[in-house]
Amino acid sequence: MLGTVARKLRILGFDTAYMADTSDDEVLKLGIDQKRIIITADREFFKRIVAADGQGVLVSGTNELEDIVHIFSKLGIKSVQDKAIGSRCTACNTPLEKKSSTQIRGKVPVAVMESQTEFNECPKCGKVYWNGSHMLRIRVFVKKLEAQLAKNSEQ
Ligand SMILES: [Zn+2]
Repeated sequence: MLGTVARKLRILGFDTAYMADTSDDEVLKLGIDQKRIIITADREFFKRIVAADGQGVLVSGTNELEDIVHIFSKLGIKSVQDKAIGSRCTACNTPLEKKSSTQIRGKVPVAVMESQTEFNECPKCGKVYWNGSHMLRIRVFVKKLEAQLAKNSEQ
């Protein structure tokens, strides 16, 4: 349910574990053991997290931007670190490694090779990232997010 929020948090550079097919008990245990903040749209589960002395944020799960604004507000995060954007694999959460075009030869389309100079590769799943139109959309999202956070802090 919160898969898109999880992916977005990873794009913004946050260490984000996503557990879709995991029981509440396991998520709660892992969250407490690893000192993770548990993000959930389930009100009953949120109550259990609080009762167990875990750290949790309850979101609506209906609007990605609103949810992330809410998470940031709850955690006191005021902005996104520019160098953190695109630093983590959206598929598996692993920090990415910088690669030259020679190193990723054959792994991306030729047109991408010819138009880009900087690449990042996931050392775990092998996914290659570059500064494409996708990144432009992310920057637009970050602008909206930061505008909303600034607006909230004025209130
Ligand atoms: Zn990966």
